[in-house]
Amino acid sequence: MEKQKHMLTTEEWVDHLWEEEKTFLQEIGRIPSESGNEKRLQLFLADYLENELGMETAWFTPDIKKLSRHPGFSPVEWGYEGSPNVIGTVRGKAPSKGKSLIFQGHVDVVSPDPVSMWSCDPWGALQKDNKMYARGILDMKAGVTAMIFAYKALQAAGCEPASDFMIQCVVDEERTGNGALAALEEGYTADAALIPEPFGQNASTAQLGSIWFRITLETAEEVNVAEKGMLFMQTLEAYENEINQRRRPASFSDHEKPVEVCIGTFNSGDFPSNVPKKAVLECRCGVFPGHDPADMKEEVKERILTAARKDSWLQQHPPDITFFGFHAEGMEIENDQTHFFHTLDDVHEKVTNTPAGRQALPVTTDARFFNLYYDIPAVCYGPDGGNIHGVDEWVDLDTMKEVTKVYAAFLADWCGVVK
Ligand SMILES: [Zn+2]
Repeated sequence: MEKQKHMLTTEEWVDHLWEEEKTFLQEIGRIPSESGNEKRLQLFLADYLENELGMETAWFTPDIKKLSRHPGFSPVEWGYEGSPNVIGTVRGKAPSKGKSLIFQGHVDVVSPDPVSMWSCDPWGALQKDNKMYARGILDMKAGVTAMIFAYKALQAAGCEPASDFMIQCVVDEERTGNGALAALEEGYTADAALIPEPFGQNASTAQLGSIWFRITLETAEEVNVAEKGMLFMQTLEAYENEINQRRRPASFSDHEKPVEVCIGTFNSGDFPSNVPKKAVLECRCGVFPGHDPADMKEEVKERILTAARKDSWLQQHPPDITFFGFHAEGMEIENDQTHFFHTLDDVHEKVTNTPAGRQALPVTTDARFFNLYYDIPAVCYGPDGGNIHGVDEWVDLDTMKEVTKVYAAFLADWCGVVK
């Protein structure tokens, strides 16, 4: 016989609410939310936090002028009109029973292009067995769903956090991280934060930084600038090898090639019979923890201009180099034997019956802001899946359920509860 509802534990409530949780994921998976166009999804989430969960809800766009003085700010070539942050807060009624906590997730996703290569609609959120498919379903709408339903399960079990608790839905993580920075700068801080980025159920204790840059070649002369641009592809490949051969932080000693220089776009020319007049390369470069992104930028610039000086035409017509988007430091957490990690390890082991692990992420996440600039312990711990940023992106729903249970248990342990 089914246990009476009022007898269910928080963990059992996650099971009980599971169909509803999957439907919620499907609903938000069907709302396109590419960076710069998060507003529609944010309206949905703000309404849910306020009316379904009874949270006090704040809504604001990142203030570029205010943020631009911060060392963690990334320069932008776009505005934030379509990108409001949403913060749901519950004020703890017995704060002495625990510590305050943030669950934070980004709601922006990368472009689904090329859509024609998908075997399903990237905004269809199709479920097949224990997988759901959509752009951003893994990165990171499943995590956002898990953190929301963790709190919902706690409420359903008749409890509220004893200390202050926030659900932060932030924007523009995929290009800058300025959404998360804005939330912290507006004063939405706490004693710790969990971010359900989809890199699996090992707490992250290190991550890379990253920088973005654009190389532009333009001329009215009969010189093929596309061919000139290709010279820089070799330069950047050599630079990538150079960085990976340097002395690196211990966290990344087991990674074969942690730092990538990705030439993400290369656009040139407009007609098969015409010599291209313009070539533009846009690139991302990883940054080891401890390295200043500003220094990396100088180095990138120097490498490109040195290569240009070896070509007679480029010597006279050096490329324009612009830095935009990511200006992100890497980070390493030195002490993983704190109350925060012990709490996470305990609830992980209790829920999953497997030992707790650690990992160093060869990517950039919003966790850096908390650790680097606010002295707030923050890790990524989230669901699993496949094809992140790729065609047919999918999430493993079983891992989302487990993460929901771990977050619910962490919330109860860390904040304490009142009935
Ligand atoms: Zn992400």
